[in-house]
Amino acid sequence: MSVNAEPKSRRRSILASLKTAVLVCKDCRLHRSNKIFGDGSLDGIMFISEAPGKGHMLFSHNQLHGRQLQAALALLGLRRRDVYITTLVKCSPGLRAPYEDEINACNQYLMTQIALIGPTKICVLGRVAAIDLGLMKRTDKMTCGKWIDFKGIKTIVAWHPSYIARNHKLFNDWVKQLRVLV
Ligand code: SF4
Repeated sequence: MSVNAEPKSRRRSILASLKTAVLVCKDCRLHRSNKIFGDGSLDGIMFISEAPGKGHMLFSHNQLHGRQLQAALALLGLRRRDVYITTLVKCSPGLRAPYEDEINACNQYLMTQIALIGPTKICVLGRVAAIDLGLMKRTDKMTCGKWIDFKGIKTIVAWHPSYIARNHKLFNDWVKQLRVLV
């Protein structure tokens, strides 16, 4: 279990500075694209997706993937504001997955975010994000809903909402994967 001992107000202030740094960051070729930093609750469950483009739709109830995730959260008794949602890279790579050098360049922001948010549990959404975070190898079969230790924090991998949007009959199985978080 993580939870940062610093007061929330101080952590929120540092997060705001970090967001400002992201908004002006030019550390990789994605810097001209749409930037999404992430937002939500501290000391709770943190969701990490791959990148804005897929990920940013998780932030909005007006977008299909955001509705999928919020519907699943509601069945778990959680509201959007009860969880923190962010992405591995903060700028959109468009329709492709982020490249390794882009993930490496952006990693400092995600790691600082995790330290400041102090999540009690992490849910990594999608196979690509799980591979990029080193939670599984490309050749591994995806194991959803099983606890993994990630930097001392209890972590699971679950399907990405885009997969559920394409395979809606799996929605209830997806909620079962996520239920271990609560
Ligand atoms: Fe900077 Fe990350 Fe955006 Fe690359 S993806 S420009 S490292 S904020």
